[in-house]
Amino acid sequence: MSIYLDGHSTTPLAPEALEAMSPWWHAQAGNPHSPHLAGMLAAQAVENARSELASLVGSDPQELIFTSGATEANNIAIRGTALAALEGGIDRREIVVSAIEHKSVLSSAHSLRSAGFRIIEAPVTENGVIDILALERMVGDRTLLVSVMAVNNEVGSIQPLADIVRIARAAGALVHVDAAQGIGKVPFDCVDFDFASLSSHKMYGPMGIGALFVSSAAHVRPLPVLFGGSQEAGIRPGTVPTPLVVGFGAAARVSRSRLGTDATHSRTLSALFLEELRSRQVQFIENIPEPSRAPGSLSLRFPGNDAMSIIARAGDRIAISEGSACTSGKITASHVLLQMGLTEEQASETVRLYFSRYNTEADATEAALVLSQIVGR
Ligand code: PMP
Repeated sequence: MSIYLDGHSTTPLAPEALEAMSPWWHAQAGNPHSPHLAGMLAAQAVENARSELASLVGSDPQELIFTSGATEANNIAIRGTALAALEGGIDRREIVVSAIEHKSVLSSAHSLRSAGFRIIEAPVTENGVIDILALERMVGDRTLLVSVMAVNNEVGSIQPLADIVRIARAAGALVHVDAAQGIGKVPFDCVDFDFASLSSHKMYGPMGIGALFVSSAAHVRPLPVLFGGSQEAGIRPGTVPTPLVVGFGAAARVSRSRLGTDATHSRTLSALFLEELRSRQVQFIENIPEPSRAPGSLSLRFPGNDAMSIIARAGDRIAISEGSACTSGKITASHVLLQMGLTEEQASETVRLYFSRYNTEADATEAALVLSQIVGR
C-alpha cells in the first residue's frame, strides 16, 4: 500500500466513523422519515449526528441541512439564494466570489448570468490569499452575496474570513463560506456567516454526505435547487442517508475532540518532510509560505520537473496529486495557480500534498526519500 498524502482530495475514513455507520446499513434499519419504530430510531440517529456537527461548527442543529456534499451545498447557497432574492424582489444583482474558488462555487455563480446576475471575481495575492483591498472596491450596495472559501483545496491557503465578513456586512451583503477544506484544519465557527458548506469526506467522514449551514438570522433563505419531498426543512428533498449521516456525525465528534492535536500533528509532519527534502538537497519552491497555509497542506513546485511525471513515477509508493486539473481529457493548468501569478509551466511543475491525522513520521521521511529519488537536486 502506498503512503497516502492526497487528503485535499479525500481524507482517510476515521475508524470511529466506520464503526458508527456499521449498524445502519442493516436491512432493517428504517427510513428516517417513516413513522414506525425502526424509522424513529433512524431519525433519532440522524438528529444525534446533526447535534454533533452543530457542536463542531458552532451552529444550532436546526440550522444544518444535510446534502450530498459540499458541491450540492454550494449550489444551494449560491443559486438558491439568488433565486430567492429574485423571487423576493430584492434588487441586488451582483455576486462576488474569489477567483480561486472551487468549481462548484464558480460554476454555480456563473450559471446565474442568464438570470441577470453579474459575477465579480476578486483576485488573490501571490500567496493565494484574497486581495482584501480589491475586494473592498468590488463589494457595494448592488452586492447580494459574497462567497469565499475558508481554505483553498489546491494550495491550502487560509482566507481572512473576518475581513471578508466586515466588508460584506458594511455593504449589507450576505456571506457564504465554502468551509469544505477548513473544518478540522483551522478554527471555524459559523456564527458570523449566513451560509457555510461542509463536506464529510474532507474531515475523515464518509463520501457522499455534506451539509449546508443556513443561519436563522440570514435575511434571505435559499430556495431548493432540487424538487421533491419536504425533507431537510424544505431546502433539500430526498431520503436522508442514515449511515452516511451517522458517520459524518461521528467524524465531527472526533474532530472536535482533536482540533488542536490534529493541527499540531499535521504541521509537525509537513515540517519534517520539508526538512528531509532540504537535507537531501532537493530543489523546490513552496507556493504558499507557512503562515498562510493550513497545517499539513503543501503546494510545492519542483522546477524542471513535470508534476504528472513525478506523480506517475511515485505512483506505487506515494499517493499525491498534481496542481493541474484534467478536464475533458486535456490537462489544463490550475486556475488557482494561474491566479496566484504562476506561469502555465510553473503550474505544471506543482504537486500538492496533505499530511493527515493518520500519517506518521515514517511516512514523512519515506515520502521525502521517494521524491528525492525522482526529482533533480
Ligand atoms: N469545495 C471545496 C473547497 C472542495 O475541496 C471540494 C472537494 N474537492 C468541494 C467543494 C466539493 O465537495 P464534495 O466532494 O463534498 O462535493
